[in-house]
Amino acid sequence: MSEAFPETIHVGRPNIGDREAFLKLAGEMFDRRWLSNNGPLLQAFEQRMAAYLGVRHCVAMCNGTIALEIAIRALGLEGEVIVPSYTFIATAHALHWQGITPVFADIDPDTHNLDPGAVRRMITPRTSGIIGVHLWGRGAPVEALQAIADEHGLQLMFDAAHALGCSYGGRMIGGFGRAEVLSFHATKFFNTFEGGAVVTNDDELAETMRLMRNFGFAGFDNVIHPGTNGKMIEVCAAMGLVNLDYIDTVIEANRRNWLAYRDALAGIPGLRLMPYDEAERNNWQYVILEVDPDCRATRDEIVAELHRHNVLARKYFWPGCHRMKPYRDLQPHAGLVLPHTETVAARVIVMPTGTTLDPGQVGRISAIVGSACG
Ligand SMILES: *Cc1c(COP(=O)(O)O)cnc(C)c1O
Repeated sequence: MSEAFPETIHVGRPNIGDREAFLKLAGEMFDRRWLSNNGPLLQAFEQRMAAYLGVRHCVAMCNGTIALEIAIRALGLEGEVIVPSYTFIATAHALHWQGITPVFADIDPDTHNLDPGAVRRMITPRTSGIIGVHLWGRGAPVEALQAIADEHGLQLMFDAAHALGCSYGGRMIGGFGRAEVLSFHATKFFNTFEGGAVVTNDDELAETMRLMRNFGFAGFDNVIHPGTNGKMIEVCAAMGLVNLDYIDTVIEANRRNWLAYRDALAGIPGLRLMPYDEAERNNWQYVILEVDPDCRATRDEIVAELHRHNVLARKYFWPGCHRMKPYRDLQPHAGLVLPHTETVAARVIVMPTGTTLDPGQVGRISAIVGSACG
């Protein structure tokens, strides 16, 4: 019996860059007494993020969910929008919250991303758009989804919450579809405490979203658009600037950990570590273990064993959005057309990684998995 870790090891433990640099920026912010409302830190952060991704506009927001909601509204989506069920619940909520029906399409069991054929089958006269998710930082089938959108006159946008720093077909994720949405939540690869952004190459769309995130204000005393409060505050932008300088360190740590998992878990029957495409840029943030039926332990047994040892591995995204109460009540039979979603959701374990974990700990975590599998 191996010993439990003295301190809980979480999935999504925050990666935090240079503290001194952050405190310096925060000190300057206090001196200026400019805490929010399009301050200098926000402007600098948006420019650097846009340059990093090679897009024309980064519109930073208070979190990824509000960024999704604003992008959805700015694109004029209505009626039904096709999304995967195998995603974080916010992808579906951002639609439902605005009176739009998320229609769940099945995924490709190998990539865990939307299956274009399944998307095609879910189109109805009420469909107004498609939201692809670059799950685990691996690009969704962008060209096939764009072809479907063009053919049917649908809007295409992406939930890129997992995919900051990743490329697809050699192009940085961020510039696909009409807009892409990022999350900078504390648990993500890159964080601004909480935060998010919509990135786009569309000037007009960016302008609309800048209005929407600030109550529609166009200067003092003049509201020209419906809006909400989606602003990112200065202290979050400061964290973003500091963490942009830390990105390569995080990628390096994640890659080192992923390789350590690969070596330590090799040869356990029925376990597969989802590979990364080395021809792309990857953030290596999601260590995805798939437990097949011929494994000597079930997925849930392995997770329970890890939890007993203080390793909080997670069963993302189980049981799938369509089985969560709000959507189960609305669409009780959605699962009938989502066989791959059901299978994949039942076999995935997300393992911890990040800058606070080292390969030695990865080895010990892997040994727990190994002993759970006999
Ligand atoms: C985290 C996440 C979101 C929501 O982002 P927040 O910043 O937490 O609001 C949306 N979609 C996906 C796929 C996510 O992982």
